[in-house]
Amino acid sequence: MIGSHIDTVATAGAFDGPLGVLGALEVIRTLNDGGIETERPIEAVCFTEEEGSRFGTDMLGSAVAAGRISLDDAYSLVDSQGNSLGDELTRTGFAGPERELLEPPFAYVECHIEQGPVLANAGADIGVVTGVQGISWQALAVHGRAAHAGATPTELRLDAGVAASAVVTRLCEMVSSNRYGDLRATVGRIAVEPNLVNVVPAKAELTVDMRNPDDDLMIRAEHDLSEFLTELVARQPGLEIHSRRMAKTTYVPFDVTVRRIIASVADEQGLTHAELLSGAGHDAQEMASICPTAMVFIPGEYGGISHSPREYSSPEACERGISVLAGVVLRLAAMCPSSIGQP
Ligand SMILES: [Zn+2]
Repeated sequence: MIGSHIDTVATAGAFDGPLGVLGALEVIRTLNDGGIETERPIEAVCFTEEEGSRFGTDMLGSAVAAGRISLDDAYSLVDSQGNSLGDELTRTGFAGPERELLEPPFAYVECHIEQGPVLANAGADIGVVTGVQGISWQALAVHGRAAHAGATPTELRLDAGVAASAVVTRLCEMVSSNRYGDLRATVGRIAVEPNLVNVVPAKAELTVDMRNPDDDLMIRAEHDLSEFLTELVARQPGLEIHSRRMAKTTYVPFDVTVRRIIASVADEQGLTHAELLSGAGHDAQEMASICPTAMVFIPGEYGGISHSPREYSSPEACERGISVLAGVVLRLAAMCPSSIGQP
């Protein structure tokens, strides 16, 4: 099975997802044009709502197909207009009678843009994706006390902005401490209230996005951050910090045999390749729970910018990725069942 998704985020470009779906169709058309019949059937798939932009749950279609999310739970999700996924599928004529759970295919391969700068920097044509790193999102709400910026002595303040900054600084220290492996930490959103030049912030809201390919080290990072929050509160009686988990996924390694085939096909086609970890989530991570799975990445221009209208991969880069996908499909479609799926 080969494919990806065609839904996008509101500010997206044209490559994130469609490359893998149109590429899958192109592979099948090319085989048909050449009169090539494979031992094993090849299916193209286009998963619903991978980005989660409309119904709020990413990888929704593949998670339902792989059995992680039930069909009823998916149908009951509502968009910002109050329309449920179930009703919308009926309205648009996509609520078909087929069973939603996929019969596990022999293998799943997805070609996708990298969405980052690693391949271009390495001068590699093809990325052999080793897996998808774990993701941990939480929202923090810091409650302090508003006060006059001139009249309130520093030691008598409960400054929510200072506490939020301390969290940002601590995350940077954690990343550079090497105690958490290849941890990445981002505070992408901070908002203070009342957000005025001469008022000590009464409240700060911030998000913490942590990524780690090592689940144990991710747990250590989450634990140590939570200890730090407890310390912060203990140091300043009256300060309150509430945390809410927004998302959590564990590391998903991709199949070693499929990865080797991707590298070997790239070699055969005279293409340079590099192994890399995916920083973003993909349908492939859901498929990995039911069948041997891996991904082919291609480099993007402008530092690999993605989820932006500037997202761009050259026709040559796209062609290389889909040619490798075709080569991998031909090998997998001819393999005997026992030669795949070992670690
Ligand atoms: Zn995508």
